[in-house]
Amino acid sequence: MSHQVVIKNAVKKYGDYKAVNNANLTIQEGELFTLLGPSGCGKTTLLRMIAGFNTIDEGHIAFGDKVINDIPAHKRNIGMVFQNYAIFPHMSVFNNVAYGLKARKVSKSETEKRVIEALQMVQMEEFKDRQPSQLSGGQQQRIALARAIVIHPDVLLMDEPLSNLDAKLRVQMRTIIRKLQKDLKITTIYVTHDQEEALAISDRIAVMKLGVIQQVGTPVEIYKDPKNIFVGDFIGTSNFLKGTVVKRDDEKTVIDVNGKTIDFNMKKACNGEVIITARPEEIILEDVKKGNIIGEVVIGTFLGDFINYEIKLDNEQVIEVNEYTKDVSRIRHTGDKVSVVLVPDKVHVYDGAGEEVLL
Ligand code: ATP
Repeated sequence: MSHQVVIKNAVKKYGDYKAVNNANLTIQEGELFTLLGPSGCGKTTLLRMIAGFNTIDEGHIAFGDKVINDIPAHKRNIGMVFQNYAIFPHMSVFNNVAYGLKARKVSKSETEKRVIEALQMVQMEEFKDRQPSQLSGGQQQRIALARAIVIHPDVLLMDEPLSNLDAKLRVQMRTIIRKLQKDLKITTIYVTHDQEEALAISDRIAVMKLGVIQQVGTPVEIYKDPKNIFVGDFIGTSNFLKGTVVKRDDEKTVIDVNGKTIDFNMKKACNGEVIITARPEEIILEDVKKGNIIGEVVIGTFLGDFINYEIKLDNEQVIEVNEYTKDVSRIRHTGDKVSVVLVPDKVHVYDGAGEEVLL
């Protein structure tokens, strides 16, 4: 049976440095939950704490209502898939998948049935007598997946499982993993540094930085409403514009952006310097009009259903704008002057440090 995973005030220290700094998460039963962040942010350390390969210095981790801090890794009933496949090179595919069942003393006939079932789930049944050396990287990773699920784990843990595969295979494999995870309804914790992969595969994501969880949410929440500019910058593409609050009353806040003033309906009070973030699709390009922010087209790139522009503002800052147009013959040319219009109800405004969202 799958389990909820509860992480409460969990800390892992290496010397004085907290590689995981007071993590609090509840991963729901049957959920595919991703730990996402740049190299060194502590995601692997946290996963290894859940697996039992790292000790927990403070706080606790529970599967269901059972605290597992002191339960050794091999008794936690977890399935694990690693980046480097980690399948045994001297064993056939069948024996690789059967390994965990043998260790659990499952009968021969039951083992046979479950191994075939697991191989069918990853569409590898016909390869059961092959040696790993006769398999491609993608096939080896499917065997690793079959080996992890065959034991009917309470929790499935995956550490960058697609990083060694080429781009096309990565996309295919993430669909296989997602479907399998949904069919089996198995609580899964997935580690990646790849934001696109995280958005594609996850029910929810925790974004980490320097050991600290920055934000937890669905892919849409994290993309649409990043809590701080680190998250906004790490997930997707964003433009960051400096602004200064020039006037504030009950109705509106007027912010100077690049010498032009824009009215915002702020959620929170703010003063002084602010940072405005806008995704490339949250900016509109128009004909030059007095009073607007003016920019110049550096280059336009046709990308199918939209054109991506680099636009240089008159303070020399270069921003990215995506313009969706049916008529691609209307592509703007290098040197063209344009008005750059921010849509106040789409963009976000943060304090000057980029830590707190104000709009
Ligand atoms: P990557 O994507 O590069 O694997 P990560 O986000 O998974 O990065 P971790 O491997 O969890 O990061 O490492 C988090 C921090 O803890 C890093 O600063 C790392 O140097 C440190 N760290 C990890 N393992 C050890 C260890 N055994 N001894 C000392 N420091 C460690």
